[in-house]
Amino acid sequence: MDIWIYVNHREDEIEETTFSLTVEAKRLLDELDQTGRITGVALGPVSESVLETLGHYGVERVLHVNADGMERYQGEVFAQALIQVVQQENPACLLMAQTAETEDLAQRVAAICATALVTRAMDFNLTTEGKALAIRPVANGYLFEDLELDASPAPIVLFLPAVLLDTAPSQETAAAVSAVAFQTAADDLKTRTVEVIEAAPEDLDLEEADIIVAAGRGIGKGETFGNVQALAKAIGGSVGATRPIIDWGLLEYERQIGQTGKYVAPRLIINLGISGANEYTAGMEKAQQVIAIDSNPRVRMFRFADLGVVGDVHEILPLLISRIEEHK
Ligand SMILES: Cc1cc2nc3c(=O)[nH]c(=O)nc-3n(C[C@H](O)[C@H](O)[C@H](O)COP(=O)(O)OP(=O)(O)OC[C@H]3O[C@@H](n4cnc5c(N)ncnc54)[C@H](O)[C@@H]3O)c2cc1C
Repeated sequence: MDIWIYVNHREDEIEETTFSLTVEAKRLLDELDQTGRITGVALGPVSESVLETLGHYGVERVLHVNADGMERYQGEVFAQALIQVVQQENPACLLMAQTAETEDLAQRVAAICATALVTRAMDFNLTTEGKALAIRPVANGYLFEDLELDASPAPIVLFLPAVLLDTAPSQETAAAVSAVAFQTAADDLKTRTVEVIEAAPEDLDLEEADIIVAAGRGIGKGETFGNVQALAKAIGGSVGATRPIIDWGLLEYERQIGQTGKYVAPRLIINLGISGANEYTAGMEKAQQVIAIDSNPRVRMFRFADLGVVGDVHEILPLLISRIEEHK
């Protein structure tokens, strides 16, 4: 049995969620009591030496497709490349960590290959009877849905990043990396990139953002919200929020973080006046560094914080912004 994981990478680094997918792949092999292997599939420019490190997490081999037109994500091209390798090799399933990019890619591949697709998966199992089972949240997280899928052709499963477990390297072995030849049929493409417009950091999709400044009810409805945006701008961050801020209409729903909002994995998140309710922290557990500012020293948010500041956001924010501006 060959379990495939999709390699998410950025700036020649593999994203943590990819390593976490190896935990799911090993679990699937163990539960079926099957001997098998884990294969990584990587698309676009990433160094061989970086891909080899997947071996430290139990990945036996990596299929790498990189060709002209794959310098940055292009849905049609990446889908063609992925379909080519999937159809050549016929894996048991393809696991991905859900991001805006994998969501787009998986839907294209599943539609063209007529395979089962599960988005926002919380759990996934293969049965010995040739079926697959999955669980995912529906109705804004109030309900969960049990799904039964055909396990052939290989289903594609997008895991919610928040349910993926952290893992550490367990061996020295390097993965065997094979470059797979692929040529874009450029003339057949229905879309082509005319221009790439860099988004201002504060407008960046939360799932793509490296730095997030998140506002909670503690910032209030007054002028402090302007300071939240000013802080984000000063440090090149994107603005996110808890549900009360969305309910007040200060930000649109796509900026909500949490169980019924976005699951984010930035390098740094600054939480301002956020108590740390479970429904919120579920969406930000993958953040690498957490700073929290809150007036109540006992709030749950501080349990997640690498740096906790007890104080009034209305006083601290203007001081913080002016200090950052001074040091720029
Ligand atoms: C099914 C379900 C799904 C949900 N999904 C989500 C979700 O996806 N995302 C989400 O965010 N919520 C979600 N919620 C709501 C969630 O339960 C919490 O109510 C919400 O996260 C609380 O947001 P908050 O931390 O901003 O507000 P609060 O819990 O009210 O916390 C406000 C914080 O601000 C602090 N504070 C107050 N004044 C100041 C000041 N001047 N300076 C500094 N600190 C101050 C307080 O000490 C407190 O810690 C969901 C709820 C349910 C039932």
